[in-house]
Amino acid sequence: METQNNWVTRSLQHVWHPCTQMQHHETVPLIPVSHGRGIWLYDMDGKRYLDAISSWWVNLFGHANPRINAALKDQLDKLEHAMLAGFTHAPVIELSEKLSALTGHALGHSFYASDGASAVEIALKMSFHAWRNGGQTEKQEFICIQGSYHGETVGALAVTDVSLFREAYGPMLQRAHVVASPDARLAQDGETAADVALRAAADLERILQQRQGKVAAVIIEPLVQCATGMAMHDPIYLRRLRELCDQYQVHLIADEIAVGCGRTGTFFACESAQIWPDFLCLSKGISGGYLPLSLVMTTDAVYQAFYDADVRRGFLHSHSYTGNPLACRAALATLAIFEDENVIAANRQKSQMIASAFAGLKDDARVKHVRQQGMIFAFDAVVDDAERASTFSRRFFSAALQQELLMRPIGRSVYLMPPYILSEEEIALLAQKTMNVFEEVMA
Ligand SMILES: *Cc1c(COP(=O)(O)O)cnc(C)c1O
Repeated sequence: METQNNWVTRSLQHVWHPCTQMQHHETVPLIPVSHGRGIWLYDMDGKRYLDAISSWWVNLFGHANPRINAALKDQLDKLEHAMLAGFTHAPVIELSEKLSALTGHALGHSFYASDGASAVEIALKMSFHAWRNGGQTEKQEFICIQGSYHGETVGALAVTDVSLFREAYGPMLQRAHVVASPDARLAQDGETAADVALRAAADLERILQQRQGKVAAVIIEPLVQCATGMAMHDPIYLRRLRELCDQYQVHLIADEIAVGCGRTGTFFACESAQIWPDFLCLSKGISGGYLPLSLVMTTDAVYQAFYDADVRRGFLHSHSYTGNPLACRAALATLAIFEDENVIAANRQKSQMIASAFAGLKDDARVKHVRQQGMIFAFDAVVDDAERASTFSRRFFSAALQQELLMRPIGRSVYLMPPYILSEEEIALLAQKTMNVFEEVMA
């Protein structure tokens, strides 16, 4: 039988891993996964790892989930794929209806792609083209928030403000305007999270005023900017953003790729502010973490802007796997679990259990900004030494593996984004393991 080391060697020879400086694998371990079950992933040696970050934020109901597995096996024998231009099928129809209903039909039209970045590209292009079809050809600019992350294709990168990902490609990008972050961690003396949010909204208004008639859309990750390090803001920012977008006639794009599907405490993060955007992007969790699927939901108004006899006024964007039946069926099974198991309410309790399990962090001097939004929990490690700070994340990742834990801090922001199936005992275990790793890395 082939050893684990053999698989690692073969992978490093021919697989170019994402978001990785490959040379770091000279010291950082690479884990060949053999199978998964529930919250656990198992390597080729049979060692297990608690998937505390839902395999990059995609897995909602555990690995090898029986209900999603059964739905996929059934779908596989009916239809694996058919093109969605000129053809349609039950999974994509049912999914679009269900999603529309979840927004009270405010966002009644779903356009499909496969990955998150493509959904962002679609929202940007749709906004631009909708204005153009309406004769507003001057509206060509986009606004994003400091620290934003919307994916890494060229269009999505243009509205992404994480320099590590963007720097090398600067000259390729049609840069967006970047406005002040509502991140609650930026509070000055005496400021509340809402104060920071309103201060940031004033900066947005300044740009909207300056560029009046030129801006197509503002794009935001509602409530939590995940990739920049779980930066959280007060929902008042979203309400103010909606008002400003209405006032200046600019589209609002909510990128709920990471924060949608119940992650922040409501099914859509925008619900927390009682607003609907003009475009809502979903991916990651929507298929339960099973298959690549993304989509953009939009309004009747936007849909009508394209509805015409002239083909060029249509939205001609497409991807080969648009609306893939297997992926849609996985999404339907995922939504069925939400409905049948009252997941949103159950998560509220789990979120409280996570808070209690980490209550000790509140007076830990090595920790700043303990924060939580639904099923996202995070804190920042205080590491003064620059060298140790720069290697913190990698050291944490390696130490976590020793504790049967899959966690990858972003810089010094340690976070949990676990699957929703975590039991009370597993939450206690997760907290204990996390703290063991933290002690070791800080020692
Ligand atoms: C992950 C992510 C994306 C990009 O999705 P991919 O499937 O990785 O292309 C876009 N926006 C947000 C907020 C994300 O978290």
